Amino acid sequence: MDTSGHRRDGGAAVTVDIDRSDLEYRAWLKEAVRKVHADANRSADTHLLRFPLPEQWGIDLYLKDESTHPTGSLKHRLARSLFLYGLCNGWIRKGKPVIEASSGSTAVSEAYFARLIGVPFVAVMPRTTSPEKCRLIEFHGGQCHFVDDSRMLYEESARLAAETGGHYMDQFTYAERATDWRGNNNIAESIYQQLRLERYPEPAWIVATAGTGGTSATIARYVHYMQYDTRICVPDPENSCFFDGWTNDNPLATSDCGSRIEGIGRPRMEPSFLPGAIDRMMKVPDAASVAAVRALERAIGRKAGGSTGTGLWSALKLVAEMVEQGSTGSIVTLICDPGDRYLDKYYSDSWLTAQGLDIAPYTGTIDSFLATGSWRA
Ligand SMILES: *Cc1c(COP(=O)(O)O)cnc(C)c1O
Repeated sequence: MDTSGHRRDGGAAVTVDIDRSDLEYRAWLKEAVRKVHADANRSADTHLLRFPLPEQWGIDLYLKDESTHPTGSLKHRLARSLFLYGLCNGWIRKGKPVIEASSGSTAVSEAYFARLIGVPFVAVMPRTTSPEKCRLIEFHGGQCHFVDDSRMLYEESARLAAETGGHYMDQFTYAERATDWRGNNNIAESIYQQLRLERYPEPAWIVATAGTGGTSATIARYVHYMQYDTRICVPDPENSCFFDGWTNDNPLATSDCGSRIEGIGRPRMEPSFLPGAIDRMMKVPDAASVAAVRALERAIGRKAGGSTGTGLWSALKLVAEMVEQGSTGSIVTLICDPGDRYLDKYYSDSWLTAQGLDIAPYTGTIDSFLATGSWRA
């Protein structure tokens, strides 16, 4: 023993060295990452469609059609990013299940990617989830695991992951960080590329609704990073706390019942929702969202989900503001998923009646606005 307190073994320092190299795992990882890249490489970009407006207004409204991804929604991008993030972090392992708390589009897209790389997938969802959603998850090889109390979704997912040695994907936490916000053909970069030959290539507004909040976070960050003047508007449906939390700067905001507009509106301020990056929010009545998504079909002959209507209602309101101010420019919003998933919901008059929703006044607002240029609420 020397006086400094260090142990000496014959004068040589002891090196502690643990090598956990697993070359079989690394070969599997390489192959899994290649398969996800190859899937992206086989896929085409989604279209930027035009919503027809009177020529003399000098305003162009575009819809980024995310319903044309292989799994039918903008969650295809998220699922791809979450799988790459989980693989590259060493979180997703050969033969171990991927688990997600989702009753919707995310589980459908993740089931697709899980099958692509050959791992089991389990969606933890409320027992009340529509059979059509379960059918789609099972179609892509996933398994549905039900809970009776939807507040237990997160806990039950974490428990299943611990029990099976699997990975709980946790979209609401990781959506914002799994996506490359500086570019790499994310949704924002793609929109700007597609606008390059338009008369107003830098939109005045981009409108994006929020579920995880990841899409609006990615678009806002990209716009700020690229030093564009575009502003970001997030419309929020009824029974969601995002508007309240953003307005009152309250990260603990909550709402006590679930959103009727599938895919958007949350009862808690999700970690992936970045309020500070958002310029403007609007609270949109659910009946207005339905009126707008039906107006979309009359305008471009395409059915979409309710959240597309929420975004379109907001975008039309922004167009009205520009018309009133006499300014010209462009606005972009999204088609988030296709309408055929919701025929007995947003496209069913008996569902509207059962929900006590009257869309007639909102339909009137949209139709008269498109005919006259003035917005009467
Ligand atoms: C998830 C989702 C959104 C919102 O996207 P986020 O990036 O999660 O905020 C909008 N519409 C639909 C149909 C969705 O599934």
